[in-house]
Amino acid sequence: MNAVPLFYSDVFVLPLPAHHRFPMGKYARLRERLLASGEFGLDEMRVPRPASDAEIERAHCPRYLERVVNGRLDPAEQKAIGFPWSPRMVERSRQSSGATIAAAREALTRGWSANLAGGTHHAFRDRGEGFCVFNDAAIAARAMQAEAGIRRVAIVDCDVHQGNGTAAIFRGDDSVFTFSIHGARNFPFAKEASDLDVELEDGTGDDEYLWHLERGLDETLERSAPQLAIYLAGADPYEGDRLGRLKLTKAGLARRDELVLGTLEARAIPVAIAMAGGYARDIEDSVEIHANTLLAARRIWADS
Ligand SMILES: [Zn+2]
Repeated sequence: MNAVPLFYSDVFVLPLPAHHRFPMGKYARLRERLLASGEFGLDEMRVPRPASDAEIERAHCPRYLERVVNGRLDPAEQKAIGFPWSPRMVERSRQSSGATIAAAREALTRGWSANLAGGTHHAFRDRGEGFCVFNDAAIAARAMQAEAGIRRVAIVDCDVHQGNGTAAIFRGDDSVFTFSIHGARNFPFAKEASDLDVELEDGTGDDEYLWHLERGLDETLERSAPQLAIYLAGADPYEGDRLGRLKLTKAGLARRDELVLGTLEARAIPVAIAMAGGYARDIEDSVEIHANTLLAARRIWADS
């Protein structure tokens, strides 16, 4: 078994009001579940270095960063994010972006690695929304371009919500290809144009989803010839998700992971995985789906 460091930031738990719908406890549960599986060791779990100002500013405008850091977003901007401002909110967002940077860096030598959180794809260059402050995938893509000589990156976004912030950040930039497969009628209601968008109707099930995903993934890899992929493995296309509107089963989501990760491994494209959304009525379901993604990666690269 080749050790692969996985990066977590669940020590940064935000003080949220009671009944807040963001499942803050999910991340620590995921790490516990991975350890309990016996497939991952304690020595593989790492706390990342937080993303620096310079790293964040490759994807976000300096004024936005400064206003986030100093708690100077106006109430409407803070409300769009959905978290009350706190120093911990800033720290957690930096840490999670640092985790995706670290996962991308490890992926370049080991084939894959993961951030056990992240996938905050609704963060735009100058604003955040939908529980997203900084766009970790965008920051990590830019970091690898800056520090590792990576020229072309593909972002494969399988969260059920469109990666609107990512699409906007990389609009007109041929070096980062954005692919999003998501619910047509779900948040965000005003969609941005990714390089490739696949929109699915409410109630889409496993077979139809996988049919579209396979074609979308092939087109993405064909058009972008990436040297690095960042996979947002959202657990929210699940039929039991409160915010999902699709009808994928756990088995279908496992096939999704096999398809994405198996294809990348077969083409020798390194991949950094971020968890993205997951809001199942029973949060253990989201935890299980995320854990299955990481177990699939472990299995696929163990065989390689
Ligand atoms: Zn989502």
